[in-house]
Amino acid sequence: MRRLLLIGTGGTIAATADAHRLTDYQVTEGITAMLAAIPGASGLADIRCEQLFNVDSRALRTAQVLQLARRVQQAVHDDAVDGVVITHGTDSLEETAFLLHLTVRTPKPVVLAGAMRPASAPSADGPLNLINALLAARDPSSHGRGILIVMNDRILAARQAAKGHTTRVDAFGSDGLGVLGAVCDGQVRYQQHPDPLTAPALPLSGLRSLPAVDIIHDYQDAPLHAYQAAIQAGVRGIVVAGMGNGSLSPAAERGCAQARRKGLICVRASRVPRGPVTAKASDADSGLLASHDLNPLQARVALRLALAHGWDRDAIGALLLQL
Ligand code: ASP
Repeated sequence: MRRLLLIGTGGTIAATADAHRLTDYQVTEGITAMLAAIPGASGLADIRCEQLFNVDSRALRTAQVLQLARRVQQAVHDDAVDGVVITHGTDSLEETAFLLHLTVRTPKPVVLAGAMRPASAPSADGPLNLINALLAARDPSSHGRGILIVMNDRILAARQAAKGHTTRVDAFGSDGLGVLGAVCDGQVRYQQHPDPLTAPALPLSGLRSLPAVDIIHDYQDAPLHAYQAAIQAGVRGIVVAGMGNGSLSPAAERGCAQARRKGLICVRASRVPRGPVTAKASDADSGLLASHDLNPLQARVALRLALAHGWDRDAIGALLLQL
């Protein structure tokens, strides 16, 4: 029997609400009780439950995410663990998954799962998502596919997953991007292998916090004050969720120019959900970096980790291109 570590962190999957409500829920359920409540789930593997914390993921702190990453790192180096499943709120799941993607390199399956509907809802999606995550984590074909997210029967690559709907159970992995396979009626099937990672892992050792990096949304007639406030607050970097292919409003250009003069790293990402932000010749003069395939949230995670390791602008630029 495969030996899995099941880590509970909270989220809607662990929440209950009054009557049929899908919102106004409270995180109430512990991971051991959640597993025990799903018929047949505890027999899918030799499962050890661990409650790291039990919170709504909107309230997760960087220190907690790093604590989770260190625990996963430790678990995958343990010969007594064949795979890890993490239950997590869906609101910030993609940020945790991307941080794990950048920091934990292992062929062992590491699978995140959540739910869009609380455990008390009619047609709650959490129990099947958790079963499917356990099935994926125990399946030998999941080896070497990177950090995975299992939601709504689909297996997604953490590298490309984003929440694309506010309420529906098929909230993740819109447009098919990042969908590696599916779990259907107990069968785990893959259609794709993720591209091999060429970027070096960003080690977790010694990290207890990460430098502050702000994301600033850009739009028509945007003001300058958000940039000035970020600089004044002492952030180390700014990711602009720019327009189109990372084009910036005049205020964003001026704000980034001011930030660059203070030594901040500024990244042009896009508020558009799909497609890359490509490098421009003018980046060399402005000192800005293109986010390439990373969305603003992913670029922020990568930038924070790189800054924590003391990487300079050129090294960070090369990293963003590789991811
Ligand atoms: N607010 C919840 C959370 O992120 C939403 C969810 O899990 O779907 O914890």
